[in-house]
Amino acid sequence: MKIDLHVHTDASDGKESVETVFERASSLGLDAIAISDHDTTANWSKAAELAVQHSIGFVPAIEVTTRAHFVDGDARPAKFGVHMLAYLPDPTHQGLVERMKKTIEGRVIRLQEITETLAPVYGLTWDAVLEQVVGDATLGRPAVADALIAGGHFENRGQVFDAVWYKGSPHYVPNRAVPDTIEAIELIRSAGGVAVIAHPLSRVKDRDTLGDKPLRHFEQMIEAGLGGVEAYHREVEEQDRDWLLALAERHDLIVTGSSDYHGLAGKDNELGEYSTSLENLRRIAEQATGTAVVNLAI
Ligand code: AMP
Ligand code: FE
Ligand code: FE
Ligand code: ZN
Repeated sequence: MKIDLHVHTDASDGKESVETVFERASSLGLDAIAISDHDTTANWSKAAELAVQHSIGFVPAIEVTTRAHFVDGDARPAKFGVHMLAYLPDPTHQGLVERMKKTIEGRVIRLQEITETLAPVYGLTWDAVLEQVVGDATLGRPAVADALIAGGHFENRGQVFDAVWYKGSPHYVPNRAVPDTIEAIELIRSAGGVAVIAHPLSRVKDRDTLGDKPLRHFEQMIEAGLGGVEAYHREVEEQDRDWLLALAERHDLIVTGSSDYHGLAGKDNELGEYSTSLENLRRIAEQATGTAVVNLAI
């Protein structure tokens, strides 16, 4: 069984349509994929149809953008972005729908701010960014990257991220209009979904100086209802993966593996490069009450 639980389409920052993604999943022999676009369920219904057409399973999901405000003793809260995968939530849950709407609106303003900082450097315009976006897709930095590539400044998204969004770059603006991580976990649960942290610890640069802060942060998330960890992902280093697997064992968490595919031209990540066992997908389905896995007997 090959199950890939983290896949993007052009409803957010993936380079391919949901049709193309399902064709590729089918030709690679995958048994099931999740569609987990950033802060949107826009392609779920098409995906459900395509799953039947291609005889593969579909797991409805969202990659929810959140921001942690981690309080540790009397220290100033540490703020950092955390991506939280929501599996099988009710897509009509009012609280979730309203919160995502706010995130999506915030993403537009934030991308406009980023574009303004890049205008003097590359002559970038907001129209050029919007040209790279299909319909109502949720907006992220990859749209800006695509506009800079179209303008002939770079060859691929990776080059843009390295050159433009290095640590301390004046061109970086955080996603501030997003839910707090703990609030997001609670919201996902109240929408009947299962919260699994995406590529955990992948963007932590100064891990060695943090002591047991990551442990305390994970314990807070687990207490709020975190259901699992995406331990197998190309951005999770081996030592972090081992740490996560031990944590999952102690707290009986679900363990997933996924590609985080963004299309062949989006990122190097290939569909199915990491996968999740049927047993772990079963646990997700058992804990969820929001919606069901499509076209897969589990
Ligand atoms: P944002 O949502 O605006 O913060 O942008 C983050 C998104 O950019 C992630 O979801 C990835 O899809 C993408 N991304 C981050 N780093 C890279 C990279 N080096 N190459 C290609 N895409 C990237
Ligand atoms: Fe992305
Ligand atoms: Fe992510
Ligand atoms: Zn992702």
